[in-house]
Amino acid sequence: MSEEKKLTPKLLIPEVQLQKRVAELAREIATDYQGREVVAVCVLKGSFIFFSDLIRQMDLPITCEFLGVSSYGNKMVSSGEVKVTLDINEPLEGKHVLIVEDIVDTGLTLFYIMSALKARKPASLKSCALLLKPECLKTEMDVDYIGFKIGSEFVVGYGVDFAGKFRELPYIGYLEQGH
Ligand code: 5GP
Repeated sequence: MSEEKKLTPKLLIPEVQLQKRVAELAREIATDYQGREVVAVCVLKGSFIFFSDLIRQMDLPITCEFLGVSSYGNKMVSSGEVKVTLDINEPLEGKHVLIVEDIVDTGLTLFYIMSALKARKPASLKSCALLLKPECLKTEMDVDYIGFKIGSEFVVGYGVDFAGKFRELPYIGYLEQGH
């Protein structure tokens, strides 16, 4: 098979389904946090589109923070090493913090982020992931809000990339393995 053909994402979650689920998640989160102000943490880069869609539908007072982490480089398999590329400078002590992730695969990245932010003594700390790959989890991980559970496929689109590409796709697609 040609490289070009292998690198064409196949449809996994259509745009309409994504938008519907994001709206549901936003309502669920707004209900749970009623009467509280939330610090929503966008985990860069992959969750930037999900984050933008989600927060605009959350009927809550929020502030936004951005945390840059990198664990995959240009590969399809997690290195297991989490590198912070952009830290949050605002104090989180006493705040209600919601981490917004694109994908929980082995769970190591979210575990690392949760531990790092817990040390900053927030009043509460919860997590929201658009996609969870239950078969790939390597750590006991309770994700508070999950958009979709998927298999072990390597996905792209809706903010998520492969070697910097495909973030602009409005849907979630998957790439065949073997690159
Ligand atoms: P974990 O540490 O849970 O194994 O991996 C989490 C991070 O790896 C995600 O935030 C995401 O950036 C990246 N990742 C996990 N699975 C995929 C995937 O299927 N496609 C892409 N592009 N990135 C992934």
